[in-house]
Amino acid sequence: MLSEKEQTRYLRQLILPEFGEEGQLKIKNSKVLIIGAGGLGGPVSYYLAAAGVGHLIICDRDKVELSNLNRQILHGTNDIDVSKADSAHETLSNLNPSITVETHEVAVDDSNIAKYAEGVDVIVDCLDNVPSRFVINRYSIETGTAVVHAGIDCWTGQLTLLNPPHTPCVNCLFDGAEEDGKPKPVLGAVAGVIGTMQALETINYLTGRETFKNKLMFFDAHTMEWVKMDLHKNPDCSICGEK
Ligand SMILES: [Zn+2]
Repeated sequence: MLSEKEQTRYLRQLILPEFGEEGQLKIKNSKVLIIGAGGLGGPVSYYLAAAGVGHLIICDRDKVELSNLNRQILHGTNDIDVSKADSAHETLSNLNPSITVETHEVAVDDSNIAKYAEGVDVIVDCLDNVPSRFVINRYSIETGTAVVHAGIDCWTGQLTLLNPPHTPCVNCLFDGAEEDGKPKPVLGAVAGVIGTMQALETINYLTGRETFKNKLMFFDAHTMEWVKMDLHKNPDCSICGEK
């Protein structure tokens, strides 16, 4: 049941014919783990909180820095040196006090991911480094938990829903990828576009639609072009491959 306040707060989506009270109750009863409260985690957590996803768990180990603020809209100038977890908690609780917002100042790794991910309906990968994506991948394969994956680089971003063995895994996408550890160039609005798409896909998944399953959406902000392509498992993948 939705309270009178909830009926009002979510009115504009409750009157969406394909969403309605049924969709609202589904997301109200959902638990979502968002790993990363940066450029992608901002729009993801903003829109999931605003939409009324009942329980958000957000993990990030970093503190807010001035150079984050071109893209990390969860945080403001007054939050510099504050943990992103605390800053996210304040921003999101203010936006929607009727949901549960749980934040943790922690680096998610193999030893602790189960603590935060146990019982969640979906994980949203808002990370900025490949090794941590493999932590999520291992947990996802072990437990069957779906992951809304996204990444941004310069003018481009990509998005897909990973749920091995029904889809490719992170290793199918990133096998052999190397990182130089330098800050990646990025325009904040690109993180905004891709993070917003991640929030949409998360809501789609929670309400029974898997728009990006075995599809990869690629966006180039330089040319303003979207490409949606089929995504296939790598049969030679050392993690999920058949061999
Ligand atoms: Zn794989």
